[in-house]
Amino acid sequence: MNELLEATRARIEWALAHHPGLAITTGLNISGSVLIDVAVNAGFSGEVLFVDTGYHFPQTLDFWDLLKNRYGQAQFVTLDGEGSAEALYLSDPQRCCAVNKVAPLYDYLARRNIPALLNARTRDSATTRGALAEVEQGDPVRINPLIAWTRKDLEAYRQEADLPLHPLYLEGFLSMGCWPCTRAVRAGEDPRAGRFEGQARTECGIWTNSKTRSPGGVG
Ligand code: SF4
Repeated sequence: MNELLEATRARIEWALAHHPGLAITTGLNISGSVLIDVAVNAGFSGEVLFVDTGYHFPQTLDFWDLLKNRYGQAQFVTLDGEGSAEALYLSDPQRCCAVNKVAPLYDYLARRNIPALLNARTRDSATTRGALAEVEQGDPVRINPLIAWTRKDLEAYRQEADLPLHPLYLEGFLSMGCWPCTRAVRAGEDPRAGRFEGQARTECGIWTNSKTRSPGGVG
């Protein structure tokens, strides 16, 4: 663990030195809490971005407030989705993600000219993420300092650092998302099996939108 932590911290220090103004994005999974903690301890004092789609579990919004209060060194910024009177997640879930999740983030990045994002994806978090690179070039550059962490590593760090845990994690919500599109994972399933069930996709579009700040290319 010490070696892994040191390598992660070194990558974050490199990112802070080479990409001044970078921000952290988080979906409030256990890896997000670990990333924020390690980054703050490495000197990060920038923005932590969270997109409030309007469809989060109440526990998720409470957890966001809890992290905000814990890490006064960083600036926690909530980005709001478009909001919609109709249940777009039923009629057109890809568009729902595009207007409530992807566009709010990428519009903000463009407005603030944020050059790079630190995020907490791990190779272990889904079978589809096994080849995730540590640095993904694009606009913005995405830096993934936790790629080598397993769930066991994350849980060990969380315990050691006494980090708060999203209350739904212990109920099997290993990958947190909006309530209409997320369920608890069953024993033996892929950690992201609880996301987008029945929608023939595993991603909301934020991370598959690699080459441009525009919200097109949602997948
Ligand atoms: S995850 Fe579901 S509810 Fe959330 S923005 Fe996407 S389609 Fe809408």
